[in-house]
Amino acid sequence: MNNEDIVLRESVVNKVLEVAQACVDEKRKGWFVKMPVFWSAMDEICFTGKEVREALAFLALRMYVIVFLDDDGQIAGISMVPQRYRCGHCNMLLDMQDDFVDHIDICLKQQKKIERNRKLL
Ligand SMILES: [Zn+2]
Repeated sequence: MNNEDIVLRESVVNKVLEVAQACVDEKRKGWFVKMPVFWSAMDEICFTGKEVREALAFLALRMYVIVFLDDDGQIAGISMVPQRYRCGHCNMLLDMQDDFVDHIDICLKQQKKIERNRKLL
């Protein structure tokens, strides 16, 4: 792969991410992307199904997205995990990209702290 390919793919990945984020159905739980809207946007900017699949696979590896495939291996749905979200256990704001896995330790400490504060009150 030469440099030009990498640059091209990065721009595809960024665009796919941007459009998918814009298409998240906020009325439903689970951050699901409205697929018909997403695909028509992809058509409009002339991304092929292959490009979109590759971009989503790349994003899925970085925990941005969960891609659901149908029996033919086609994209049936996308769930976008927000980059920042609040932990339900300790209420801390997390960055999904960096500290999600590291958070478990901190989370337990935070929970103990919350517990201690509760007893003091
Ligand atoms: Zn937590």
